[in-house]
Amino acid sequence: MFNNLSEKLDKAFHILKGHGKITEVNVADTLKEVRRALLDADVNFKIAKDFTTRVKEKAMGQDVLTTLQPGQLLIKIVKDELTELMGGDATGINLSGNPTVILMSGLQGSGKTTFSGKLANFLKDKKNKKPLLVACDIYRPAAINQLHVVGDQIGVEVYSEPENKNAVDIAQNAIKHAKANGFNVVIVDTAGRLAVDEEMMTEIANVHKAITPNETLFVVDSMTGQDAVNTAKAFNDRLNFDGVILTKLDGDTRGGAAISIKSVVNKPIKFIGTGEKMDAIDVFYPDRMADRILGMGDVVSLVERAQAQYDEEEARKLQKKIAKNEFGFDDFLTQIQQVKKMGNMKDLVGMIPGAGKALKDIDVPDDAFKHIEAIIHSMTPAERSKPSIIDVKRKARIAKGSGRKVEEVNQLMKQFDQMSKMMKMMQGPGGKNLMKMMGG
Ligand code: GDP
Repeated sequence: MFNNLSEKLDKAFHILKGHGKITEVNVADTLKEVRRALLDADVNFKIAKDFTTRVKEKAMGQDVLTTLQPGQLLIKIVKDELTELMGGDATGINLSGNPTVILMSGLQGSGKTTFSGKLANFLKDKKNKKPLLVACDIYRPAAINQLHVVGDQIGVEVYSEPENKNAVDIAQNAIKHAKANGFNVVIVDTAGRLAVDEEMMTEIANVHKAITPNETLFVVDSMTGQDAVNTAKAFNDRLNFDGVILTKLDGDTRGGAAISIKSVVNKPIKFIGTGEKMDAIDVFYPDRMADRILGMGDVVSLVERAQAQYDEEEARKLQKKIAKNEFGFDDFLTQIQQVKKMGNMKDLVGMIPGAGKALKDIDVPDDAFKHIEAIIHSMTPAERSKPSIIDVKRKARIAKGSGRKVEEVNQLMKQFDQMSKMMKMMQGPGGKNLMKMMGG
């Protein structure tokens, strides 16, 4: 996420390295580079200009006796300003109303249907809600089917009326259905078009008027940069929406949309989408995002993700197995799956402070564990639970079965051996604390 921008900002701050204090000249040079970095990231020209003007004013007003180096000082000012630009504090979703009615708006392909599912899943799991998804796209039968597929995946009911061509009717009927059947959140997914057009705007404005949502959300693809900002403006003029959802932040997004959108429509970004799966949803925290843009990592989110995946029962079982020397390849596989559930590998690496830059040239494939998994899958259950029986002959068979080289099997065996030894050591006196620290 935002690799290019992070790198360029880092270069800009380098200009100040070795300078004892901030002067009009060295700050101007640095800020010129900061502005260029923002423009390259597709931030609107005026926003970028105002931004650097504000940073300059703050920097020049700083007490020269400050203990921070000029570079650090400027990074801090830039970070604070970026946070402010993206909305200051995080803004939660308004869950008032019974049922809470949430209307989704946005262009076709922005990720509206996917996000409707993610939000339903989030509210069900994290807020103990009983959501109902509503398919209000009266033009594309495929869109209705897509929502049903999403609903099935997360175990949430989907309300649709494939024969009805009146979106207002469907939305109103869905709310009645929700009230009669104990649903406390209704998420209405509407029809999108490829571009803003009058007919679509009128239709969604009519639905909006008829159901008076507690929360109207605008979904936008962050890959579209300044276009995202223009579309947001068009929708906001008609719907006066409550918040923005930025999707596809897992891709090679340049960052322009995330940085500019709040100041153009003056509405907070509430959530971000970071993948196609149903759990790839994160609450948007402006300060954490600023940290990531500046390549400072996002440890808080990383720890939160680890905690969300952490299963106490599983951890206890694992500890018992290690103590009894029963840790096998099946457990190894479970561990890998736990890590994978935390999200896409590149994304995770980006959250480690400093790692984004250090590892930028190293390709972190999304399927980093694919080969390891293939090898383990080629083992028999007996081999998995008692790896010591794997001899040369068995290794050759496993390699053949998984389509990998024997050396790779050897390497995995070695890694497994080291890991088992380390785990065993941690069980000893003094090791318990270490395990606790690691979440075990
Ligand atoms: P809609 O037309 O607005 O309902 O858009 P969809 O929900 O059908 O999404 C369009 C495409 O974008 C689909 O292929 C989704 O899988 C994909 N998509 C949606 N959100 C994300 C995201 O956060 N990250 C990535 N990588 N893909 C996404």
